[in-house]
Amino acid sequence: MNTIKNVFGTNVFNDTVMKERLPKETYKQLQRTIKEGKHLDNAVANVVANAMKDWAIEKGATHFTHWFQPMTGITAEKHDSFITPTDDGRVILEFSGKELIQGEPDASSFPSGGLRATFEARGYTAWDPTSYAFIKGKTLCIPTAFCSYGGEALDKKTPLLRSMEAINRQAMRVLKLFGDTSVTSVKTTVGPEQEYFLVEKEMFDKRPDLLYTGRTLFGAKSPKGQELDDHYFGTIKTRVAEFMEDLDEELWKLGVLAKTEHNEVAPAQHELAPIFTTTNIATDHNQLTMELMQRIAKKHGLVCLLHEKPFEGVNGSGKHNNWSISTNTGKNLLDPGDTPHENAQFLLFLCAVIKAVDDYQDLLRISVASAGNDHRLGANEAPPAIVSMFLGTELTEILDSIEKDEQYGTKEKELWKVGVHILPRFPKDATDRNRTSPFAFTGNKFEFRMLGSSDSIAGANIVLNTAVAESLRQFADVLEQSADFNSSLHDLIQQTIKDHKRIIFNGNGYDETWVEEAEKRGLLNLRSTPDCLPYFMKEKNVKLFEQHRVFSATEIRARYEILLDNYSKILHIEAVTMVDMANKDLLPAYSAFVKQLSDTVVAKKAAMPEADCRYEQERIQKISSLCGDMFEKTNRLEELLTALSQKGYTELERAQYYQIQILDAMTKLRAVADKIEGLTDRSFYPYPNYGDLLFGVR
Ligand code: ADP
Ligand code: MG
Repeated sequence: MNTIKNVFGTNVFNDTVMKERLPKETYKQLQRTIKEGKHLDNAVANVVANAMKDWAIEKGATHFTHWFQPMTGITAEKHDSFITPTDDGRVILEFSGKELIQGEPDASSFPSGGLRATFEARGYTAWDPTSYAFIKGKTLCIPTAFCSYGGEALDKKTPLLRSMEAINRQAMRVLKLFGDTSVTSVKTTVGPEQEYFLVEKEMFDKRPDLLYTGRTLFGAKSPKGQELDDHYFGTIKTRVAEFMEDLDEELWKLGVLAKTEHNEVAPAQHELAPIFTTTNIATDHNQLTMELMQRIAKKHGLVCLLHEKPFEGVNGSGKHNNWSISTNTGKNLLDPGDTPHENAQFLLFLCAVIKAVDDYQDLLRISVASAGNDHRLGANEAPPAIVSMFLGTELTEILDSIEKDEQYGTKEKELWKVGVHILPRFPKDATDRNRTSPFAFTGNKFEFRMLGSSDSIAGANIVLNTAVAESLRQFADVLEQSADFNSSLHDLIQQTIKDHKRIIFNGNGYDETWVEEAEKRGLLNLRSTPDCLPYFMKEKNVKLFEQHRVFSATEIRARYEILLDNYSKILHIEAVTMVDMANKDLLPAYSAFVKQLSDTVVAKKAAMPEADCRYEQERIQKISSLCGDMFEKTNRLEELLTALSQKGYTELERAQYYQIQILDAMTKLRAVADKIEGLTDRSFYPYPNYGDLLFGVR
């Protein structure tokens, strides 16, 4: 039997392997590159590459690839074999430092938002030594960043690494002010909880909507859904358990710290949570996790759906981004400490996050914006599209007392003073949990819950890291100038609470009244992707990213265009798929059922002129009339699509048209089609239905 210990990290070129296989001096130099970002010279790279190759070949690898994360949201790879021909017509296996450090994938088909056209035709990939190389199948995968020759980021990793540097720079300034000299670097850490659905592959293959769009575009509710809450944390079915075991093992081999697997709220829905690690590695690992989920599901005759809303009427899938800030000495900066001094520091970092979330609500919203996620946010199953923060009663009371210079609690005789008092430990148990908040403090970390299940977590963390870096920058600017550190610190914390407390909301985020209340507080409510994307280019946001060298204005523009274009394309494919399904499968099927009913009436009357044909006749009437309706709505959707192709719209106008006109027409078409499904003989329905899909895996 394979134990975790036996398999964990066996396919990773990790620190242990490096120590074992690299000459001491090479290992040291590589460590300096990994930990301090020092340049790696060619000679050293050659030695590392060679060791990597030997290790990979021993593990059965034949190829290598630069593994990168273009803006498609999934990972890309192009495999090259290790073989190099020799003069005598044979081959040797080679892998040079140059091949390790830099690659040149034919990248012209990856979205660049016009970046490559404006600057350079080619893109290149550059080794990211802070994320370990690993073996997948027979290929050595080298995590890389993907840039244009002008240096513009064409991927999700480059800006993520830049944002980690930004928060490191500013957090170090703040720590220095607190007199901390032992810390040499600060990193953000992330543990992403991943939700997904599993359906029978055989059924999946029969549904064009799932096949082309990842979600069902038609389908009447099954008699049972999630109302009994009997699936949540329920017993895992054998097939699913086998899938999870397999998945865990494969993830462990890749060094992914898969920890908990359980059933989620909706039938057929599950969740995987890993143990947290640094943001960069967590992002790579989450991409790998999503990829492996899909691959391993197939081996079990299943399909893993990562779409945010595969089924109407049952919960969709999200991803919870648990985020914190840690020092290289192992201290979690969002953990209240044991001394007044540590607590003051905790409060300052907490305030940095509060300010960041308030100042950059728009960017956080944008970081989770996608066509799929628009179906979840604000739909009473996921946080609303309004960004707010949950801090829990106790912490909120403490902040209140600081804000008002009042005494905290009943035992305290004195006023609450930063840097003088010890904070209570905040309960981490379920009693103080708020499941409806988009951004919740959970004792020693924040849980950002708005992410969609298929999102790369890079986007959300780029914004979080950069926005918090900006708060810290402003704080450090003030504190570095101050003559009396403690009193400036107190004033700064107090002022930040005053200025930003509107973002704190401990109530029920699903409640209608919150929408009104949030509006009164001046919080943004950006409901859809086209609503929020234009905020990306607001001056304050461009300034933020430029100042911290995370994105240039050009890179922002490019990303904005890619996101808009992607949104429109997704809706287009969905609309066309609907028209296709309606015309080719559904209308003919419903019509065939009507014909059968009519034939039955004829047969019944022939046998017995007085026969009761109420069922048949009423259904014929009802379904025929609904089919007429459905036919019209299908045509309407088609007309809208045609009309769009004749309009000279900008990208934004196009996206808005899809969001307003097309989505509405799709909803109306679906409503009538689903109504007919409810009246039609099951055997005439051309696809596996909701009951089959949701309860089919046994
Ligand atoms: P909870 O019960 O609050 O959800 P868990 O301990 O189950 O807490 O953690 C949920 C996720 O948060 C896990 O992926 C976990 O690794 C992650 N996590 C815990 N501590 C941190 C931290 N300091 N930084 C980032 N993620 C963390
Ligand atoms: Mg959680």
